[in-house]
Amino acid sequence: MSQTPYAAVNGCIPFLYEALPSRVRFGHGTRSQVGEEAERLGISRALLLYGPPHAAVADELADRLGPRHAASFDGARMHTPVEVTAEVMTMVAAHGIDGVVAIGGGSTTGLAKAIALRTDLPQIILPTTYAGSEMTPILGQTANGIKTTQRSPKILPESVIYDVDLTMSLPVAISGVSGMNAIAHAIEALYAHDANPVINALALESIRALVKSLPAVKADPANRAARADALYGAWLAGVCLGAVDMALHHKLCHVLGGAFDLPHAETHAIVLPHALAYNAPAVPDVMRRLSAALDVDDVCLALHELNTTIGTPRGLSAIGLPESGIERVVELALANPYRNPRPLASDGLRVLLRRAYDGAEPSAAVSEVPNDGQPS
Ligand code: NAD
Repeated sequence: MSQTPYAAVNGCIPFLYEALPSRVRFGHGTRSQVGEEAERLGISRALLLYGPPHAAVADELADRLGPRHAASFDGARMHTPVEVTAEVMTMVAAHGIDGVVAIGGGSTTGLAKAIALRTDLPQIILPTTYAGSEMTPILGQTANGIKTTQRSPKILPESVIYDVDLTMSLPVAISGVSGMNAIAHAIEALYAHDANPVINALALESIRALVKSLPAVKADPANRAARADALYGAWLAGVCLGAVDMALHHKLCHVLGGAFDLPHAETHAIVLPHALAYNAPAVPDVMRRLSAALDVDDVCLALHELNTTIGTPRGLSAIGLPESGIERVVELALANPYRNPRPLASDGLRVLLRRAYDGAEPSAAVSEVPNDGQPS
């Protein structure tokens, strides 16, 4: 008897699937619909958030919002420092703001989400990178140098406008690593403890779209079709990130970003092949599916080579991790247990981080390091 796709992939393992509410406009030039989205959400006094590269587009959006635009702020920073949020909360009160419109990458989206967490105001997000934050009810905030993450339905943006044209200016170097950040969401979704077949399908579709489009964007940043594919893949990766729990890879990157202030997307891009090599022996079925989707024998090596193709900095040493940081990250990564397909072992993590630090190829040696008995 032939198997259904569900049985073939999951062996009839029961699962829970919970869809998050999401409204998406996708295409070229879709930012022209920002006024309609604001009207639909009942926003009459919008706060417009943007970063320096988007000053001109912000002016255009303010025009499109017309009398619905009340104030603008262009000072979002990476990792959502609470001081910046406090400054913007003062503006929210002073201008009688009843909704937020944000154009930018994960940093600007993070500020919009931080305001929504405190006020439950509706958000319209126009993403300009491939970070995927706009699809998640997750917010990471930094206070006194410590980044903490929380989930709340209030954080999830009400409306997302993906305008491919807004990504055309994303510098090639950022495009590649930002896309790898998205691939990391999709890969960890495949081996999440709460994985399900719907998210699996989105994850594989996302990975296929990104792995194909990122080299094409690198070769020609003005390639509109490749830019559209990359943004499409990033959207689906964001859905995966919001739907299921991430594991070792995201934990390591969180620690590296928080403790050493390393750049977010670059860190993800560098660590991904090594984190996957660590988990590979525990998830043979996921590795088979990835291998088939990408049409390669060695998925970890293929991701490493993709990093080379798109110009990712060579290793964690190249983006500012001091060598002594390897030991610190091992300690921090083991400090708070969390679910990961393969038990966390200090020896294995040390090898993983050393190879990521050096920019070496991901190695089966990472998978062969014996488990030293640390709990998963
Ligand atoms: P970012 O938003 O800081 O953008 C990176 C750089 O690219 C910035 O200098 C920005 O000005 C520039 N830029 C962005 N779009 C551009 C464009 N189209 N043209 C020219 N320049 C452009 O970086 P990011 O990687 O998008 O986001 C990182 C932040 O997002 C981190 O704080 C991370 O923790 C957070 N994040 C959160 C989630 C979540 O679900 N909570 C998910 C992913 C990332």
